[in-house]
Amino acid sequence: MTRIAIMGAAGRMGKMLIEAVSGDERARLTGAVVRPESSLKGADAGELAGQGRLGVTLSGSLEEVIDDFDVLIDFTTPALTLENLALCAAHGKRMVIGTTGFSEEELTRLEGFSDRVPFVFAANMSTGVNLSLNLLATAARALGDAGFDIEIIEAHHRHKVDAPSGTALMMGRAVAEPLGRDLKADGVYQRVGQIGPRSAREIGFSTVRGGDIVGEHTVLFAAEGERIEITHKASSRLTFGRGAVRAAHWLMDQKAGHYDMQDVLGLKQALPDGSAA
Ligand code: NAD
Repeated sequence: MTRIAIMGAAGRMGKMLIEAVSGDERARLTGAVVRPESSLKGADAGELAGQGRLGVTLSGSLEEVIDDFDVLIDFTTPALTLENLALCAAHGKRMVIGTTGFSEEELTRLEGFSDRVPFVFAANMSTGVNLSLNLLATAARALGDAGFDIEIIEAHHRHKVDAPSGTALMMGRAVAEPLGRDLKADGVYQRVGQIGPRSAREIGFSTVRGGDIVGEHTVLFAAEGERIEITHKASSRLTFGRGAVRAAHWLMDQKAGHYDMQDVLGLKQALPDGSAA
């Protein structure tokens, strides 16, 4: 049985995570944390998530529940996630991190914990997206420098605060790496005015925000005369929640290290040229 605590339990993903944990017979929810000032403190986590009473009280700080869980699942904000990682490192806990929007400096700090905490960090926990990353790397190898322009289009709900999405950036890296490109030099994040013709190396990102769109990503390989589109559409956040719970179980057998969903799903097989997918 994997004992799981959830950070940001009142958030959109927090409630989905409560549902995913309570629907998994190998997992038990043993902690759920909301903001210290939240009026929800003291309420039942299951009732908050529409799952009926689970007997787990919403608490206002991670310290209060630190001895009660094996794995913390955290889908909140970069600053809070880094604080939680330090606390988990100090108490020998594991973490599944779904938070997105980390700056370069924050990513370096996150990496600094990889010799002390076993953690899975993935901007998208869905099986379909992680399989898509493999398909994209294969497509980029086959098509990329043969006159195919690469564009990435993502769409999310109106509340999302970072752009482009962490998933769009992962997809960008998945196509850039096999082609020897780098998103720092070749990523194009906005186009406006007299921008001139497109360069062959650039990887363009377009962002759509509106309504309740859960998450849609298309990678377009466009040549003269034909184009290929690889699209993933999430229709329920529960898919991310289930992926996170799967990662939590997997972490129980891992040593300290920074892992991703490709590790969890066993998708990191070596390719014929010796590189990893
Ligand atoms: P949200 O705003 O609904 O939830 C964030 C939660 O964090 C809120 O409940 C907020 O109260 C809580 N929080 C912030 N500061 C806190 C504090 N100090 N103490 C306790 N709780 C605190 O957002 P969301 O849609 O649930 O997304 C959260 C994050 O997860 C975002 O970064 C989003 O991009 C990411 N996300 C990742 C995946 C994935 O598969 N990896 C999927 C969906 C969303």
